[in-house]
Amino acid sequence: MAPSHSALDPSAETRPNQEGISEALSYAVCNGLVVGDAADPNKVVHAPMTYFPSALPRACYNEALRITPALNQLIRKIASDIEWLKSTLADTAAADEQFTGRLLKMTRPVADDEVELQLCRYDYFTQDRALRMVEMNTVAASFACLGAKTAQLHAHLAMHPLSRPDYERKRCEPGKLPPVAREAPAALACAIGKAHKAYAQKHPFAIPLTAVMVVQPGERNIYDQDALRHTLWRDEKVELRRMTLAEIAADAALGNDGILRLKFDRACVSVVYYRAGYAPNDYPTDLEWCARETIEKSNAVKCPSAAVQLAGAKKVQQVLDADGVLERFVSDEAIAKAIRATFVRQYSLGVHDGGADNANMAVEQHDAFVLKPQREGGGNNLYGVAIKHELQRLDAKQREAYVLMERIRPTIVDNVTVRAGKLECVKVVSELGVFGALVAVERDAQPVHNAAAGTLLRSKLASAEDGGVAAGVAVLDSPRLV
Ligand code: ADP
Ligand code: MG
Repeated sequence: MAPSHSALDPSAETRPNQEGISEALSYAVCNGLVVGDAADPNKVVHAPMTYFPSALPRACYNEALRITPALNQLIRKIASDIEWLKSTLADTAAADEQFTGRLLKMTRPVADDEVELQLCRYDYFTQDRALRMVEMNTVAASFACLGAKTAQLHAHLAMHPLSRPDYERKRCEPGKLPPVAREAPAALACAIGKAHKAYAQKHPFAIPLTAVMVVQPGERNIYDQDALRHTLWRDEKVELRRMTLAEIAADAALGNDGILRLKFDRACVSVVYYRAGYAPNDYPTDLEWCARETIEKSNAVKCPSAAVQLAGAKKVQQVLDADGVLERFVSDEAIAKAIRATFVRQYSLGVHDGGADNANMAVEQHDAFVLKPQREGGGNNLYGVAIKHELQRLDAKQREAYVLMERIRPTIVDNVTVRAGKLECVKVVSELGVFGALVAVERDAQPVHNAAAGTLLRSKLASAEDGGVAAGVAVLDSPRLV
């Protein structure tokens, strides 16, 4: 496709050369930095991306990586405290029976014959050169592969004669582009491989083995998912089959031995890796819920289990911010302090804990907050005057399904976005995601693997409020450490 310049284009000084942009488009398509076209799913187009890597404070990047293993442990600890999870989410579940409520009902402790696998992503903005956590994703954290490919693209452009002049003008030297930004696919595949092998050791009679990726029907972000599938096969020789929850309902059966088997070829399922199942739309009928429950009852490695998924609930993150709660799960004082330093204030809208006062505060100062429903996947939050209208519309019980979060004002930087071959020189804010991987083989023992697993950077127009890459608001980016 021929690149074109949009009407918004400002000075020629910041505008990239045509040759550089053509190189970026060619590199993106040749290296799988692609998504399914919105209009025609059989067509492949380059992923929305930035031409340059966005500036990010090096100290913030390193700190986010440093605290990741502790966050992995935090999620594991919360998920293992079922009683706490049930009481913390009781009111949310009552206000959101059909989703949070159903997940909470199937939550149970890890059994002796199970292996635990957590693949999470911790998201941050930077504000005044400090890290500010946006949220912890414990289910279906995406863009490990396309994010790494974007970092690879930027590393290529930083060196290539066609784009290097642009990069030199922007002072994007290759030395500022961290290799960690390209590591997520291999790091996630390595963790899935470890969990698969641990399952095989615990269940020697479960043969042949396959892993399953639970996907949404008609997924556009299929190449991010498939790149992980290919990496897992290349590095670990583990097959990962794409299946929807409806297909699992039709094709999987739970044996008395706890093993989940696929009927058509009798393959036993080692790992169930969810890239769906995080939103009510993923469960259009009871069939999908049945499939989820069957998986939950099986001895397959669940990534995540219902408990781990709920440990990442917005409500849990709000409660963690209250005095002493994070510290209950993180015994090391220095680490707890480092994690807490990334938190912005969050407030309950619950009847029993100051919800009415907090709602009034948000109605009056609606620009200072974000109103978050108990949902995942982007595009659900409310901002500004919409907060006021929503809070005035909801009754006390309905408000239990929301939390209130202080609004972060992220650092704004210049960049050039490229969508469908079209450039825009714009001001953006960047959201850093740090992947974390944890594998535990014995329920009460330390994990056998616990590490940061690469990073992702997504940028959106500084004027945009919510919305991710999939929603068409954000674009893929990579960090340039400054
Ligand atoms: P989701 O599960 O929908 O991804 P998030 O908490 O990540 O929920 O919110 C979605 C988007 O809303 C984020 O990517 C970010 O752009 C914006 N956002 C979320 N929380 C805040 C906040 N406290 N301040 C400013 N923007 C926020
Ligand atoms: Mg998010």
